[in-house]
Amino acid sequence: MVSLEELAAEARRCDACRLARGRTNVVFGSGDPAAPVMLVGEGPGRDEDLRGEPFVGRSGALLDRLIAEELGRDRSACYVANVVKCRPPGNRDPLPDEVEACRHFLERQVELVDARVVVTLGNFASRTLLGRSEGVTRLRGRAYPWRGRWLVPTFHPAAALRSGGEVTAGMRADFVRARRCLEPG
Ligand code: SF4
Repeated sequence: MVSLEELAAEARRCDACRLARGRTNVVFGSGDPAAPVMLVGEGPGRDEDLRGEPFVGRSGALLDRLIAEELGRDRSACYVANVVKCRPPGNRDPLPDEVEACRHFLERQVELVDARVVVTLGNFASRTLLGRSEGVTRLRGRAYPWRGRWLVPTFHPAAALRSGGEVTAGMRADFVRARRCLEPG
């Protein structure tokens, strides 16, 4: 099996879908490669593409706050990645063939990090990893036993920034759910 670093190097050379053409950086993932919690978003936006880091800007700040307040840890003690590693132009949604082309990177990242809990942020990550067609509003609210670990779907931080208190409160409840999955027993 390749290492996470080798997989990141492979992604940096990847041109398997049209998103390769518009990217500044491949945003592979960041954080502790042996973290007990992995968080998975949708795809890089403009700032992430420029910095080569997932979840920077306001969404990243909200994510950091939820991780600190509800999981009781720093983001650097988690591993954070996206479904697609290159920025969709104009921040559009990733297309199904782009998700499929990129899926093997995420699948192998999940195996290599081997976190006890995977938190999926928003529709794309939740549907892609659970293999379900429902939206995150229906999927969230429980922890799923998944491939020998737990998967906890929740909203994307951008949705909380757009929609306000109720969505943020839902995210808090889901992060508490994720923290319980980390507890022994
Ligand atoms: Fe390759 Fe994924 Fe980037 Fe498409 S989005 S070019 S599959 S790394």
